[in-house]
Amino acid sequence: MKTALVWFKNDLRLHDNETLLRAMQENDRIVPVYCFDDDHFKTTKLGLQKTGVFRAQFLLESLLCLDRNLRERGSGLIVVEGKPSEQLSMLAREFTAQQVYAMEEVAIEELRTQQLVEAALQDIDCKFTTCNTATLYEEHELPFSPAQLPDVFTVFRKRVESESAVRQSRIAPEIISSPEIGPIKLPKLNELGLAHDTIDDRAAIKFQGGENAGLERLHYYLFGTGAVSTYKLTRNGMCGSDYSSKFSAWLSLGCLSAREIVAQLKTYEAERGSNESTYWLFFELLWRDYFRWMMRKYGNRLFLLNGLKNTTQQTGKHNAARFEQWKNGKTGNDFVDANMQELKRTGFMSNRGRQNVASYLCNDLQLDWRYGAAYFEQQLIDYDVCSNWGNWAYVAGVGNDPRGKRIFNIEKQAADYDSDRRFRNLWLS
Ligand SMILES: Cc1cc2nc3c(=O)[nH]c(=O)nc-3n(C[C@H](O)[C@H](O)[C@H](O)COP(=O)(O)OP(=O)(O)OC[C@H]3O[C@@H](n4cnc5c(N)ncnc54)[C@H](O)[C@@H]3O)c2cc1C
Repeated sequence: MKTALVWFKNDLRLHDNETLLRAMQENDRIVPVYCFDDDHFKTTKLGLQKTGVFRAQFLLESLLCLDRNLRERGSGLIVVEGKPSEQLSMLAREFTAQQVYAMEEVAIEELRTQQLVEAALQDIDCKFTTCNTATLYEEHELPFSPAQLPDVFTVFRKRVESESAVRQSRIAPEIISSPEIGPIKLPKLNELGLAHDTIDDRAAIKFQGGENAGLERLHYYLFGTGAVSTYKLTRNGMCGSDYSSKFSAWLSLGCLSAREIVAQLKTYEAERGSNESTYWLFFELLWRDYFRWMMRKYGNRLFLLNGLKNTTQQTGKHNAARFEQWKNGKTGNDFVDANMQELKRTGFMSNRGRQNVASYLCNDLQLDWRYGAAYFEQQLIDYDVCSNWGNWAYVAGVGNDPRGKRIFNIEKQAADYDSDRRFRNLWLS
């Protein structure tokens, strides 16, 4: 009887989950596991939490949903806490698993954890296999190797659009053969070192964690409301749930597969017609892929003050007092402050808001952009290591923007995107 562990991380779903499917194909039974990694709940060198309470809550909901979906198919989720290398090798021994399967990582800390797990498993003669479950295209489907990824997004986009195809999203297995798995035991927020906090009622959307809620949102945004057909016109909005898809939180924890979104989008276009807006959702998902491949190509450099630029010129300096004002929405610039209040109280901010507050921190306040990125990491429900650090480096002018530094004129942005002050009144009243 061949048994394998499936180590779920940011791929908390059963649909289009290559890792799960491969483990099932190659083994007689599988044991699904999630590990609360101690390192994800610590305070970083910059004095910020790696995971804030809003994302932790979303994660707990997502795990509950995953467990329910697994149980409906005859399995269940084992949840452990500690160092993944220790926990996984302990479980591998307990279940006499010959192999552990997990999603493939690209960012430096995650890769380090992955390497430690692999080494610990090697010590007990257990194989470790990774699959890419995060992007639209697999590595072999790209027209270039990750090391030769174009440094300009448009070049990347045009090549993948003409030379690659997004493969079909895989359907969830109907039955999953597992040994008996006891009821799920999830830690409480305080056991993760977090104080309970309630999301402000003014939140643009009430994110509910889990694959089921993610798939529901996908259906709602496409077939339910047809909002995707006007996406390009509304995507720079700031108030309400439907100006943009809000898929990000589910994508970040892998509750939704990007390929599933594209599959549904194609069906939608076939039934209701395609236009610039339906294409634009795909276009934005390409950005997400791009930042992940960029991380793979440049690794640690996307976390350095000067990013990808070969310069010793300092691009920003930390100033604790100014940073606190920015974080707490007390800079005195009402557009920035309203956005920062939204982030602080809800764990979400629009893309327009993110670009503006990031530009303000880098250009107006002249601060070290990495503090801003680290605060987003703590605060965002949809935090994604590649999209976050890649976008921050881009706005700070040390990423892969061929135009160099982009300085947003915040007053003009406020006048263009919040001309009736609706957004500012909502958050500053
Ligand atoms: C400074 C900064 C930090 C950011 N941090 C994150 C982050 O941690 N996690 C995250 O998912 N996105 C991040 N983004 C990208 C973007 O702001 C969010 O993906 C988007 O606002 C989420 O809302 P939505 O799902 O409604 O987006 P939509 O406009 O509906 O877009 C659909 C999807 O496309 C992808 N997408 C859209 N814009 C981008 C982009 N610029 N970069 C990468 N992917 C994109 C996302 O997966 C998004 O869910 C950041 C942007 C900036 C400027």
